[in-house]
Amino acid sequence: MAKRDFYEILGVDKNADDNTLKKAYRKLAMKYHPDRNPDDKVAEEKFKEAAEAYEVLSDADKKARYDRFGHAGVNGQGGFGGGAGGMTMEDIFSQFGDMFGGGGGGDAFGGGFFGGSGGARRQARGERGSNLRIKVPLTLEEIAKGVTKKIKVKRQVSCDVCDGSGAKDKSSVETCRTCSGSGVVRQVRSTFLGQMATTTTCPTCSGTGKQIKANCTKCRGEGRNYEADTIEVPIPAGVEEGIQLSMRGKGNAGRRGGPAGDLLINIEEKPHEFLQRDGQKVVYDLFLNFADAALGTSVEVPTIDGQVRIKVPAGTQSGKIFRLRDKGLPMVQGRGRGDQLIHVNVWTPKKVNKEETALLEQLREMENFKPPTKKGEKGFFERMKEYFNE
Ligand SMILES: [Zn+2]
Ligand SMILES: [Zn+2]
Repeated sequence: MAKRDFYEILGVDKNADDNTLKKAYRKLAMKYHPDRNPDDKVAEEKFKEAAEAYEVLSDADKKARYDRFGHAGVNGQGGFGGGAGGMTMEDIFSQFGDMFGGGGGGDAFGGGFFGGSGGARRQARGERGSNLRIKVPLTLEEIAKGVTKKIKVKRQVSCDVCDGSGAKDKSSVETCRTCSGSGVVRQVRSTFLGQMATTTTCPTCSGTGKQIKANCTKCRGEGRNYEADTIEVPIPAGVEEGIQLSMRGKGNAGRRGGPAGDLLINIEEKPHEFLQRDGQKVVYDLFLNFADAALGTSVEVPTIDGQVRIKVPAGTQSGKIFRLRDKGLPMVQGRGRGDQLIHVNVWTPKKVNKEETALLEQLREMENFKPPTKKGEKGFFERMKEYFNE
């Protein structure tokens, strides 16, 4: 179906001013309004068509493009997809909302028509509590296995005297007069397209639907008190510094029975005495004296799971990396574990006594103590490549 000319749709000429445009649109919108034409597809299309025409012609920039290029000038730029009906009903009603400063989409036009398609019904009754933030420092061992931490916090908990209501007793609670107990207030305003309703939380009772004549003496009407509390926080294996976990509803209690906020848990890593974390890998720096490196030895190295004995073969070079499979860390909700890498550093003595000097002087001249002059052994850069290509 070819698109009709926007001026033709609204029945105005190219020089029509804002007021004329608005009047023309109002007339059509009233005529084809879905409330007046239930289940009439043709009327709905006409209604949309008029909205689209008005959307373009009421905007100086879009109007200029339309005047110059026709429909092609506004397709895809003005927010409409190709053919007629590119605007949804929600778009159209939010257009009304923008135009008249109403609450927008929601339940425009006195409810009815929308049948709940966008009506934001308030579920939460009462003011929500605030979020509570805690830091949880963990050791590498805890991170490797996951842990449940018992954390002492001071937080707002529901008042045990009034059961969170904030009222002194049952007789001191009455139905809110502002909203008649519904927790919401409905505002109806007249727009040029007719009545438009918006629904907001009742300002008097914050949505609880109740008013309190006499306050609970413990919480003074708040329905919550600060108390020392211990929360069990389950932490999955594999977390890392900077991750934030959250526990729904474990934050501060809401005011007068409102929903509780969340507990936000920021993970911190405690530095390990010997090990360094690198993602899922764990890195350990092993220092060997050069006799051990030359002759080979067996040494104990620390891992997350405790001490492990490894063999160092004869002729081990400084910079050599040994790998212990599955001694690293798991991924959160992942399978398996990373590896531990053992980075060999051959230790050069910083001071030597007479006897040592004499021995070293002998070794200095010996055949097998001369380093290679050609590129043979893997140098530093090859090893770094090996390391990063894990
Ligand atoms: Zn109380
Ligand atoms: Zn109320």
